[in-house]
Amino acid sequence: MGRGGTAPKDDQRLMDYVSVHAEPRGISVAGARFSPFKELSFRWKAPLNSVSFYASDYMADAPDEPLRQFVQGAWGYMYGRRGRFGEAYVNYIRSDEFVLKKRPLYINRSRNITYNTAGAERDICDAVQRLLDHGLLHDSDIDNTFFSWTAKPNYTRLGYCSQVMRLVAISRVMDSGRVPERAFDYVVYHECLHLRQGYRPFDSRPHDAEFRAGLRLFPGWREAEGDLARIPGMRRRDAAEALR
Ligand SMILES: [Zn+2]
Repeated sequence: MGRGGTAPKDDQRLMDYVSVHAEPRGISVAGARFSPFKELSFRWKAPLNSVSFYASDYMADAPDEPLRQFVQGAWGYMYGRRGRFGEAYVNYIRSDEFVLKKRPLYINRSRNITYNTAGAERDICDAVQRLLDHGLLHDSDIDNTFFSWTAKPNYTRLGYCSQVMRLVAISRVMDSGRVPERAFDYVVYHECLHLRQGYRPFDSRPHDAEFRAGLRLFPGWREAEGDLARIPGMRRRDAAEALR
């Protein structure tokens, strides 16, 4: 095993895929390495005529074609075009195989979760079940998903969804009878709509028109948003931004 637990042949494979883009442009590849980023991402350093590329180690054992397309998409970002990520890459990240293999590592790197749906006063599973019962969610939306409370209360982020890892974390702030059940369900619903979207590569606008239309199907969504703004300790400005 080489640096950071990645096999040397994989660093070489990454180097080869980066070189395909770099060489025709007269750019030399100073380094290409898999790195233990928490999120599925990439970074680069590009001094004059040279590039060092760092890819998330979640991709270290990806099949050739998904890895090639990942580098291709990343290259587009690095050099000023909007990245286009190929279908083989997207399908690989969306596969149960990828999620089941990589999520344990992601969970290890997530410091602020309890690994549990049961809180002090509420269970996230109960909210999910109510949403299923009302027909707002379907089984396929929550397939292969890990739900957890956050360990510490988070006011700037009441809910969080990793579409890559299919993990939903709900802020401990919501684990209180003082917060209306409607608001709790609304936060869980919001994050589950992101699960329904599924992985979209480096998506900068997750709250698009289709997403917002989905939110509006929640009975009493307006009241639920009002409930969130009235949570003790919550600043009004934050309430609008607190659902990611
Ligand atoms: Zn969101």
